[in-house]
Amino acid sequence: MISDNRCSLDKELLWHPFTPMREWCDPEHEPLALVRGEGAWLFDQHGRKYLDGNSSIWTNIHGHAHPIIHGAIKDQLDRVAHTSFLGFTHEPAMLLGKELAELSGLDRVFYSDNGSTAIECAARMALQYWEQNGHPERTLMIAFDAAYHGDTLGAASLGGIPLFKGAGNQFGYRVQRVATVDDLQSLNPAEIAAVMVEPLIQGSAGMRVWPQGMLKTLETWCRANDVFLILDEVMTGFGRTGTMFACQREEVKPDFLCLAKGLTAGYLPMAATITTQRVFDGFLGDGRAFYYGHSYTASQLGCAAALGSLKVFREENTLQNLQPKIALLSELLKAFQAMPQVKEVRQCGFIAGIELLDQPPGTGAKVCMAARKHQLLTRPVLNTLVLMPPLSVDKDELGQMADALRKAVQEICPA
Ligand code: PMP
Repeated sequence: MISDNRCSLDKELLWHPFTPMREWCDPEHEPLALVRGEGAWLFDQHGRKYLDGNSSIWTNIHGHAHPIIHGAIKDQLDRVAHTSFLGFTHEPAMLLGKELAELSGLDRVFYSDNGSTAIECAARMALQYWEQNGHPERTLMIAFDAAYHGDTLGAASLGGIPLFKGAGNQFGYRVQRVATVDDLQSLNPAEIAAVMVEPLIQGSAGMRVWPQGMLKTLETWCRANDVFLILDEVMTGFGRTGTMFACQREEVKPDFLCLAKGLTAGYLPMAATITTQRVFDGFLGDGRAFYYGHSYTASQLGCAAALGSLKVFREENTLQNLQPKIALLSELLKAFQAMPQVKEVRQCGFIAGIELLDQPPGTGAKVCMAARKHQLLTRPVLNTLVLMPPLSVDKDELGQMADALRKAVQEICPA
């Protein structure tokens, strides 16, 4: 338990991501220290409770403190917490690999630590594949405007949001950004290694939904030109869009599927890049290896958490039970659409973005701060408010989230 409720140690010693630290450290600002979670609820240092409206930055799937996931992690902890995956293997990694291959319809699973590393693995596998399989000229990576694929230099190089890139633009490899699938027609496919995309919806762009069929068209173009298709399902994976993976909505099969956030249901940092037999075969023989890996690759605890999460999907029929909640979310969003303060409401499955109309920068953040008084925690993308609850949220809780957000909009931007 934190003895100092005003978190002075934090202000004295810590540095937060994407956070203007002068304002954070202001004596008037009291940081929330989250001390406990239960289902869709989080509790702060004062015992106040809040609904987790963005699933703890898009990670949590089945709610906090789920007994099956806790049990899986504790059982693993009693055996061993972590062992190296360099030169060794272990049962949780094998069992998880089998489940991920079955779920994705792909063949080979490479583990890493987070969304950014999952993306970098796919990019580096694609580039190395062409280099050692007779096409060293295929060195160009294609990504989309306003894309977000992570913050490490390699992943940020693929991103198309200047704010998130700093100086790390196209560090070390060639990236060409395009706005639409049509733009691909003007490129020379023979020099392209892969196209990277967030399927169905771009998250950090402000929950921007792609036109229906875009992904299928992109897949067709990639197949016709023998260009790899890399899907970044770091946000959309594990049910967020209504199916286990977003690509299943358009019956698309990628060459690389990148998973993180929801892989462990939001319990531990872990990622997977899943690929095809063809890619794997291109790394066999002649002393070849994929020269990439991290100390915590295939974390035993992470694998156990992920296996626990997939068990919950089966035992609680998570995806089936989600469908009426997606319909309810659509209903609740209608009230936002009717508000004069709202420019556009966007929804993809259980992900919603509510874009404010003509408000100064920073308004979205103020609305989210105001929502805390109404027991809702969430974070905007600029002036787009995000609702992305754990899939396990119940209908009452979902209604409470929408109410809280609507009240906060009215308080901060009176009509
Ligand atoms: N890709 C997408 C689509 C994401 O939304 C994110 C994180 N928001 C990432 C990649 C990077 O994941 P991580 O923060 O785990 O590195």
